Amino acid sequence: MNIILFPPQPKLEHTYFVCKCNSPTCGFCEGGLSYCTVCCAGEGELLEECPGRKLTEEENKANYEAMQQRWKDDLEQYQKEKYLYGTH
Ligand SMILES: [Zn+2]
Ligand SMILES: [Zn+2]
Repeated sequence: MNIILFPPQPKLEHTYFVCKCNSPTCGFCEGGLSYCTVCCAGEGELLEECPGRKLTEEENKANYEAMQQRWKDDLEQYQKEKYLYGTH
């Protein structure tokens, strides 16, 4: 029997904007862009969890930069591991 001491909290999901214009040039309908109507962040600005409120432009910008940095760090880590343990 598994005893879970700390049940994981449900993640707050983003509420993605659903566009209904069906225009072939629409970035949402055709481009598959994601945009959250709650935190008002899109694509690279989206956090893993929705903060549940509207973010300011500055906050979105900071998030975007933080996410870019994280991807960069992840990539560097991946390359390091690949070099150390990878088959080449
Ligand atoms: Zn959100
Ligand atoms: Zn659309």
